[in-house]
Amino acid sequence: MSFQNTLAYAQEQDHQDELRYFREHFHIPRHNGQDTVYLCGNSLGLQPKSARAALEEEMTKWAELGVEGHFTGDDPWFTYHKTLAAPTAKLVGAKPEEVVIMNQLTVNLHLMLVSFYRPQGQRYKILTEAGAFPSDQYALESQVKIHGYAPEDAIIEIAPRAGEHTWRTEDILQAIKDNGNEIALVLMGGLHYYTGQVFDMAAITQTAHEVGAVCGFDLAHAAGNVPMQLHDWDVDFAVWCTYKYLNSGPGGTSGVFVHERHAQNPELPRFAGWWGHDQRVRFKMQKGFIPMPGAEGWQLSNAQILPMAVHKASLAIFDEAGIENLRAKSEKLTGYLEFLINGLHQPKDQLEIITPADPAARGCQLSLLVNKNGRQLFDTLMANGFILDWREPNVIRVAPTPLYNTFEDVYRFGQFLAAHFQG
Ligand SMILES: *Cc1c(COP(=O)(O)O)cnc(C)c1O
Repeated sequence: MSFQNTLAYAQEQDHQDELRYFREHFHIPRHNGQDTVYLCGNSLGLQPKSARAALEEEMTKWAELGVEGHFTGDDPWFTYHKTLAAPTAKLVGAKPEEVVIMNQLTVNLHLMLVSFYRPQGQRYKILTEAGAFPSDQYALESQVKIHGYAPEDAIIEIAPRAGEHTWRTEDILQAIKDNGNEIALVLMGGLHYYTGQVFDMAAITQTAHEVGAVCGFDLAHAAGNVPMQLHDWDVDFAVWCTYKYLNSGPGGTSGVFVHERHAQNPELPRFAGWWGHDQRVRFKMQKGFIPMPGAEGWQLSNAQILPMAVHKASLAIFDEAGIENLRAKSEKLTGYLEFLINGLHQPKDQLEIITPADPAARGCQLSLLVNKNGRQLFDTLMANGFILDWREPNVIRVAPTPLYNTFEDVYRFGQFLAAHFQG
């Protein structure tokens, strides 16, 4: 791709972009009377304008129908979660019965670990990436302790090679093979939150299965960002949140994938609750848990309709845009960002992109390692209407998302950096 560092070029790319109208579907935060350059959808996605109406629809139903809303009106609450399955399945490459929307991410991770971390004999270890998102680290640590193991012994962390920022797939696969007899579970991020690297989920899953381990992914940064084929890759389970790239609101609901091999197995141990119980006899209120077939059988509580209503509005936008179309734009948009940063003629020891250069090994986010006065640069950017995020000790994450960011956004960010480093 041949990019140009001019406003005219950026505006022409926006003009040619068939997805440009989707920006109109979102509220863009303002700064000094102008739209911000919002490059932070990896942390909290923007609000779809349709979210308010979706929420109001359920508020009205509640006001007018009260408890009857469970069984009457459009999309009764009793089966509300089912309306989210088809668009969710398309996003992550699953069958509708393999996914369910419920709870929040870390809660769902624990529920999955209850079913899929089943240590036995010498096979009791979990292999994960070093520097995983802290919530995942705490979840793994507490789960191995519950089974009576010491985290230092039972958790194997794979780090990048010395002097490198990202992982080589061959090293991950080799580590799985080297520890093959001891690993019960491989649990990794699908897309690493700090570096922006996409892991080779298909190869990791296959190798985990070859050594007799189960394989799951935390897709917090992958869902809505990169297309996936969870079913075909034979992934055992996955979880993700919906408030990052999926634009479903702070603390929003979460998604779960359970491969049909497991989802259709009522014998699989799990923590149970009444909303996972066979829907035909749920209201008989009798003892003896019978799981719903599919991922629905992991539900515990009755569905949280309000956050789900927001998520439903957001999923409709993804459905209309198409994840493959979004990905095509995303590769170009992030490629443009990379081109502008590489053109800064900045000594590498000051500012360095640590995200892989191969578009197949990243999503929309680029992570900038700023070796000197990084926090100061970040604060200056924020004070000037560039919304990004800072991750200790020295990384600024920049995430142009294809739904609402423009080439002009990226150009303006590049201009600001150029002026900063010249000044
Ligand atoms: C954002 C994120 C979380 C956050 O967990 P919540 O339960 O939604 O608060 C967890 N893990 C990863 C990898 C994340 O990126």
